[in-house]
Amino acid sequence: MQTTHSPMLADVQEKPPGLEQKTLALGRELLSNVQRSQQKLSSVRKNFSDRLMDWAMSDPQFKTQLFRFVDVFPTLKSSTRIHEVLLEHLKQPGVVMPSGMDWGLRAGGLMKGTLAKTISANIMRMAKTFIAGENLLEALPKLKRGWDQGVAFSVDILGEACLSDAEADLYRQRYLELIEGLADEVRWWTTQPILESDHLGPIPRCNVSIKVSSLAADLKIADFDGTIDRLYESLQPLLHAAATRDVLINFDMEQFCYKELTLALFKKCCEQIDFPAGIALQAYLRSGPEDADHLITWARQTGRQFSVRLIKGAYWDYEVIHAQQMGWPVPVWTTKADTDACFEQMTSQFIGAIPRTIDEGGVKLALGSHNARSISHARALLEHANLPPAAIEFQLLEGMADGLKRALVEANQRVRTYVPLGKLIPGMAYLVRRLLENTSNESWLRDSVRDVSDDHLLAAPQFTNTGMSHRSATESSEFANEPLRDFSCADQRAAFADALEGVSLTNHHFCSLEDAEQAVSEATQVRHDWNRHPADDRASILERVAAKMKSRRDELSGSIILQSGKTWSEADADVCEAIDFCRYYAQQARQMFGGQQLGRLVGESNELNYRGAGIAAVISPWNFPLAICTGMTGAALVTGNPTIVKPAEQTTAIAATMCELFWESGIPKSVLHFLPGEGETVGDFLVRDPRVSLIAFTGSRDVGFEILRVAGNMQVEQPGVKKVVCEMGGKNAIIIDDTADLDEAVAGVVHSAFGFAGQKCSACSRAIVVADVYDAFLHRLMEMTRSLVVGDPRDPTTDVGPVIDQQAADKIRRCIQIGRRENRLVLAKHVSDGVRQSLERPLIGPHIFTDVRPHDFLAREEIFGPVLAVIRADTFPQALNIANNSVYRLTGAVFSRSPANLTLATQEFQVGNLYLNRGSTGASVGRQAFGGFGHSGTGTKAGGPGYLQHFVNPVVVTENTMRCGFAPDLL
Ligand code: NAD
Repeated sequence: MQTTHSPMLADVQEKPPGLEQKTLALGRELLSNVQRSQQKLSSVRKNFSDRLMDWAMSDPQFKTQLFRFVDVFPTLKSSTRIHEVLLEHLKQPGVVMPSGMDWGLRAGGLMKGTLAKTISANIMRMAKTFIAGENLLEALPKLKRGWDQGVAFSVDILGEACLSDAEADLYRQRYLELIEGLADEVRWWTTQPILESDHLGPIPRCNVSIKVSSLAADLKIADFDGTIDRLYESLQPLLHAAATRDVLINFDMEQFCYKELTLALFKKCCEQIDFPAGIALQAYLRSGPEDADHLITWARQTGRQFSVRLIKGAYWDYEVIHAQQMGWPVPVWTTKADTDACFEQMTSQFIGAIPRTIDEGGVKLALGSHNARSISHARALLEHANLPPAAIEFQLLEGMADGLKRALVEANQRVRTYVPLGKLIPGMAYLVRRLLENTSNESWLRDSVRDVSDDHLLAAPQFTNTGMSHRSATESSEFANEPLRDFSCADQRAAFADALEGVSLTNHHFCSLEDAEQAVSEATQVRHDWNRHPADDRASILERVAAKMKSRRDELSGSIILQSGKTWSEADADVCEAIDFCRYYAQQARQMFGGQQLGRLVGESNELNYRGAGIAAVISPWNFPLAICTGMTGAALVTGNPTIVKPAEQTTAIAATMCELFWESGIPKSVLHFLPGEGETVGDFLVRDPRVSLIAFTGSRDVGFEILRVAGNMQVEQPGVKKVVCEMGGKNAIIIDDTADLDEAVAGVVHSAFGFAGQKCSACSRAIVVADVYDAFLHRLMEMTRSLVVGDPRDPTTDVGPVIDQQAADKIRRCIQIGRRENRLVLAKHVSDGVRQSLERPLIGPHIFTDVRPHDFLAREEIFGPVLAVIRADTFPQALNIANNSVYRLTGAVFSRSPANLTLATQEFQVGNLYLNRGSTGASVGRQAFGGFGHSGTGTKAGGPGYLQHFVNPVVVTENTMRCGFAPDLL
């Protein structure tokens, strides 16, 4: 059912006659009641939070920095730090501070402390408006007060992102305590007929909202059925407890990628367990009407009754940004009007599905909106359907739209607030979402407190149906990365699994020195022809290769999984990167070989152009067996160099397929030679051969240094100095400071350190953590690492597959032994004998060491396996010094929300690729041009604008264009 289509406009149901008038009449009445309630409330309520919102709404730069500060605030441990970081944010370019605030900030001495205290108290107060308390005990008085005033509740637990099994267990325990504790408590509360019954009879007093993502360390979308089974196991005790105690469990809807999973899990739970059930659906999704239809049909078929909380959706910015970054269709409506119109359409679908009798399958509607138009439209529809007010429920967020709540209670509607419980730190993301909602330009709430007319507030929303804002490489001339597979789509998962099933590998014989000699001789003969071949045609061939790779992408991923042991998503990313290299270098070559005029003087023409450097030897590693080999080969060929490919011994089959694709696309066999073999023999031969002008190498430092040394040894018969494109190893560090978002930092380090078993040049092998957060970080890091699945990469649940071969495994184990002697091993992830035997490839579980000093082996040497050193630093500048204390200069990352620390890192972190607030792996062609310096490389940036320069000789042709005193005008 996964689609991101908009509903066909023809599908939009005809509105019943008189509905609009009824909606407007109810809307006007509601607005006037809201105003009355608001006047009563506002006299007590003009506080700091309101003033802050006023400031934020008047200046977008101030708003960004203010909300960023609110986000980081809970991590700040002292008044001095609060003052410092607030100042850092408000000093950002373009921020104008509201008058009255600037003098306070500039103040020094005691005033600093006072200011920090005032700010802390106000932010805490603001948070408490939206968050009912840390736990049930704290929240109960508030819930009881609401109940006595005619407002029911749905309680939700706020928390950090769930990164480990231990955290998932904790969440499950907290939900269980909540279900049991609430049920015990509310039994004694006074009866509230409106809140406890609908048109068909009694409904549960208690309502608990559950986030599916908090019940598992990692929702593995690629393993859809397995994930549902695991989540179902985890939910069972909660649902049984809810059934016994009559507590409604509402499945919250989170990011779009989890929608299908949440729906399938919900249905499975309802089919297996008879509990009071509810689920949220989001109208900002283009698929909203289809989702509604799907649930209604299912309810009718199964005879189940359950409630649906219809909301607009809380992750709009994320969905748009994420989809655009991934090159996927944007799943949400891109205008507010569309979302509102979709909300009305779905309201109408659900009101049509409200059961009329107790035995009839159907959906009970809970409308989650603060918009008086949406609410009045639902009430009007209900009347048209001849259903009583009790047949619908209105849900609003705690701390928001109090006037509306009151007005609805006074109209005898069933009103429920969505009440989050939790600590302030994890609650900040929730608070910021609420603040954004209250200050967004498109917010109905914002309009409703300004001088906007009732007619405008109540106007019927219309579908505008804007197109998808979805960039695609084929649709635009601008380079766009090939989108990764979206494994939340059932068809993509199935196609991938099928392709993997069908893959088998062919072994290739290694070539001899005679073969190498022959390859170089043949390449020499076509050297000039290929160099003269039109650059545009060479570029077109690369584009054809990209197209062929795209059409066989899952099969190629399958080969990568089998041969290199990559997991599903890692293998898919390898293929996408290969496609990107082809397209990107084709585009770059067209620009480069078009000729460029230098200088602008009449009577003289200076044209800069390029010629291929000569015969190229491509010597590639096994860890990106398709991407790196394709990148270097494509760059060499498109710039006019006959090319000899010597791939890594471990992954020759993939390189062979790559060569086939180049040949099929139009590269003559005399121009591209496939030379599988040993590095020390045929690789070395190519490096030494005087006829080879260019070596494109990616691999280890020691081999790289040897190649640079040998290639630099000029021989007299050599036509020129050899060019060496040399990309080598890394000892990459990620710094975590006191302001870091630990949810992101822990996940970022785990993925960077243990993805592909740490066998990436960009892998994080040092986590340098500032003392204030060291313990908390290490604890969560270890728990998350414990939850990783080590095993067979063909299985989509696997996070960490095997290491490449026995030799590599032996080397990694020797490094671990050194670590055991010099440092403290705090985690060695166990791999069971069963898993080992079933795979027949060397598996090494992730290892984490602490007490690592800068001069220790683990802090210095590239290990190229799942081994991470965690290093403590007193301050951020010290962390930077430690990070820079390496001969390698490849990638680095910083997790920090301090603008000053991010600036310092930008200036001082000595690496070729620096990532701020994201992990250190996963560079994208054309966006993160990749490569390091120092012992990591010669500074060529693969996938960047200057890369092709390394494969050519530049030539400038200067012509005196003046003849007999006459020269053509400049163009
Ligand atoms: P490696 O150096 O062992 O082998 C790389 C290639 O060099 C292979 O094709 C090998 O056969 C060949 N080779 C070996 N000895 C040779 C010699 N004497 N003369 C000529 N060729 C020779 O590296 P690997 O184990 O395949 O790959 C892992 C290494 O690659 C790691 O150090 C990693 O950091 C590095 N790497 C760097 C980047 C980057 O962009 N900087 C990318 C990927 C991998």
